[in-house]
Amino acid sequence: MKKHNFYAGPSILSQYTIKNTAAAVLDFADMGLSILEISHRSKQFQAVIDEADALVKELLDIPAGYSVLWLGGGASMQFCMAPMNLLNKKAGYLDTGVWASKAIKEARLFGDVDVVASSKDKNYNYIPKDYVVPQDCDYFHYTSNNTIYGTEIRKDPDVGNVRLVADMSSDIFSRKFDVSKYDLIYGGAQKNLAPAGVTLAIVRDEALGHVDRVLPTMLDYRTHVKKGSMFNTPPVLPIYAALQTLRYYKEVGGVEVLEKLDIAKAEKLYEAIDSSRMFVATVPNHEDRSIMNVCFVMKPEYAELEKAFLEFADSKGMVGIKGHRDVGGFRASLYNALPMESVDALVECMKEFQKK
Ligand SMILES: *Cc1c(COP(=O)(O)O)cnc(C)c1O
Repeated sequence: MKKHNFYAGPSILSQYTIKNTAAAVLDFADMGLSILEISHRSKQFQAVIDEADALVKELLDIPAGYSVLWLGGGASMQFCMAPMNLLNKKAGYLDTGVWASKAIKEARLFGDVDVVASSKDKNYNYIPKDYVVPQDCDYFHYTSNNTIYGTEIRKDPDVGNVRLVADMSSDIFSRKFDVSKYDLIYGGAQKNLAPAGVTLAIVRDEALGHVDRVLPTMLDYRTHVKKGSMFNTPPVLPIYAALQTLRYYKEVGGVEVLEKLDIAKAEKLYEAIDSSRMFVATVPNHEDRSIMNVCFVMKPEYAELEKAFLEFADSKGMVGIKGHRDVGGFRASLYNALPMESVDALVECMKEFQKK
């Protein structure tokens, strides 16, 4: 049976990425060796990381003065690395969910944190809008897509003269945004780019070197900028896979084309949910709804059918649609690699279940 992969992360990758990565595990760059067993200092791997850097810059339209970094430790490591490198006195944070709160907790280890707004009062089912970023902050941090709650900030926030930092783990490469407004962007690769094990960071070189504290070598962005992500052994295989995804993104026409398709997929699914008598979306404001992670639940009168729907969906080849435990219900993640065909299959599956 054909499987439809709605996992939130690690998540679906393009067949192009999977096939080319599998081939390189057997024979990489005609070396007669597996990519698993070659030096990261070989000229063949240097070419991989150089091309990956260049493609990230091209696809996201990154201006001069920024470095693309491939790091370990996941997006969670960036929760401490960002404040360590950028926070002297005070930072502003927007609290829009579990990942944002985890980032806040780490930032507090390095200075004052002003949580400018939070949507915790409604279990994070909306994006706070009426807040001002104090201009004495070293930077303002926000999470562009809240993977767990299915909310998304699709417009670059207005922060005045304050530096801007974003966790874009689960929506990078799904929409156009203006990199020049940011000083640091980071994301774990396992949602829209590669298998788990590498974190992409895009940093404005000029933003570094302004904090007073002593930084451990590995946690200093400047180390990785200087050494082109090769200070130590980088995650070779995930970077190779990321390169395949980036080539694929370029091949299909870039971020603009991906964004159109992503919006069409999300609109179709939200429409099916909004027009159904059994399901309801957990995010009421349409403008706050994520196009990457669509969260929905059973209406109260059908609540006891939740398990039955999960079993039915499973029997139809739907994988990974159980909602996060903090939200319950269902979550369908519609990352770039998910074809429209899978959205159609899920919509059909919901309709069939309602008929039964
Ligand atoms: C998945 C996720 C993270 C955590 O990523 P790790 O690589 O597992 O540390 C952080 N932020 C967001 C928005 C995520 O979706």
